Amino acid sequence: MRKGTKSFVILGGGTAGWIAANRLATHWQDCDFDITLVESPDIGIIGVGEGSTPPLKRFMDVIGVEESDWMSRCDATYKTGITFRNWSTKPGFDEYFHPFQCQPDDFTVPGFFHNSFLRRQGVDLDGHPSQFFLGWHLALQRLAPVAPPNFPFNMNYGYHFNSGLLGEFLQEWAERKGVKYKQATVTGVVLDDEGFIDYLETDAEETIKADFYVDSTGFRSQLLQQALGVPFESCEDVLFNDSAVVFPTDPDENPEPQTISTALKYGWAWKIPLTSRFGNGYVYSSKYVDDDDAEMEFRQHLGLVDSDIEARRLKFKVGRVREHWVKNCLAVGLSQGFIEPLEATALDMVQETVARFIEEANKGDMTDRYRDEFNEGISKRFDAVRDYIVCHYRINSRSDTDYWRDAGANEKISQSLREILTAWLQGKNITDELERQNLDAYFPSMSWNCLLAGKGIYPTDEQVRPGNELAHKYNLQDIERYLKGCALNFPAHNEQLAILKKAEAA
Ligand SMILES: Cc1cc2nc3c(=O)[nH]c(=O)nc-3n(C[C@H](O)[C@H](O)[C@H](O)COP(=O)(O)OP(=O)(O)OC[C@H]3O[C@@H](n4cnc5c(N)ncnc54)[C@H](O)[C@@H]3O)c2cc1C
Repeated sequence: MRKGTKSFVILGGGTAGWIAANRLATHWQDCDFDITLVESPDIGIIGVGEGSTPPLKRFMDVIGVEESDWMSRCDATYKTGITFRNWSTKPGFDEYFHPFQCQPDDFTVPGFFHNSFLRRQGVDLDGHPSQFFLGWHLALQRLAPVAPPNFPFNMNYGYHFNSGLLGEFLQEWAERKGVKYKQATVTGVVLDDEGFIDYLETDAEETIKADFYVDSTGFRSQLLQQALGVPFESCEDVLFNDSAVVFPTDPDENPEPQTISTALKYGWAWKIPLTSRFGNGYVYSSKYVDDDDAEMEFRQHLGLVDSDIEARRLKFKVGRVREHWVKNCLAVGLSQGFIEPLEATALDMVQETVARFIEEANKGDMTDRYRDEFNEGISKRFDAVRDYIVCHYRINSRSDTDYWRDAGANEKISQSLREILTAWLQGKNITDELERQNLDAYFPSMSWNCLLAGKGIYPTDEQVRPGNELAHKYNLQDIERYLKGCALNFPAHNEQLAILKKAEAA
């Protein structure tokens, strides 16, 4: 980035490109910068990516969008967390819930941590995570996580949405903020003497020139990887999945506000509730099963064997680029990398990348003084997410296929993950271990505790001994009563969605 940067071209109009456009236009709205998004009319968007984490709400807040502006237009529903089903064969642990922790949980999480910690020391306590979280009760009771005024606690939730419709909405919003939109397919990238991007050649007559370029061209990574030659570092040795098959199914009139992730023979399937349909996808490894067999297994799982509904098939690669910001180019979205969709973290990464870029560019007075710091921070975030997701596979206890056996025996995991697992197995406090490694800013201790406890990485019932009175200081019935009492304050999921629809129509 050169001092005096004033014009930006964002290449690519998928969700990543439009998130970047909105963020840049919002933060630099008083700076008289010129921001143009260029999209090929011939190359489609990936068109999957229907689940989010809570930062999507914060992004919408930052760009000034209310839920009533976008949710019903994008067929969106609320998400209080993810249920993981059939990842573990340990008795009592065939499923667990990974919540987005909210303020009412502050009273119950100490009970979870206490039980989980002592169970690892061999005390006979119930350390299954789901029961300690309000989000789980809301999901099962099909309630929206929107707190009414008489319940003054902070809630924390994500969304499910139709990604194509979300892209259209964000495009309109960005154009209102002054972002220009152009259709053209970029066919060539011309560099200057110092290796910076000078201008883009297109399939039309015109060329496109800017001071700075955002590469949001998806897996093609036309600018950062192809033109600037930044290497891609694959993590396929620890994350085997490279393919997906996708089907819609009929919607539920009042869906549970949660994603379901069910482990199948060669990967896992998502079930995501939208107001117009369920989005379903099977993410699998083509090294272990061919595409036709995977589709058939998924059809059986969904009860669609006799249906003539057409599947959509996708290929993807997992890993990240070595550097995300190089010269006068920043990659966001799939062009910078992808760590499979198990925890729906991709859009979070997009937002974080753009927000951190703005912060560092401002701090450096629109120069690349803080570029190295930025690249290091984003790569660390990618690696932390990768390790959390790899852990799902590494601690699985299925043995029905080579896929699960290989994943469970994979010794190529990072040193960091190895140390987290060792700390857990040695009965140490996992919060301390995350702090020691400076990892608590990514997936917090609660998430790691849910993952390891939820998959039943505990001494078995035969190995534990009864605890004393102090060990049993948290009464699970009291916790259940408290959380069910909290849940009484929340509206039915479909009723809350209907309110938003009405507000949008008004
Ligand atoms: C199976 C699967 C499931 C996923 N699930 C989730 C999920 O639940 N949650 C989540 O957050 N994320 C998920 N993701 C990731 C998510 O789909 C992407 O992060 C998100 O859609 C952003 O994609 P993108 O904008 O980077 O790329 P794309 O959507 O591929 O957009 C690329 C854009 O670049 C343009 N383009 C490309 N080349 C050129 C060119 N030469 N000239 C001009 N324009 C060009 C195209 O026209 C298009 O507009 C999933 C991904 C996969 C593969």
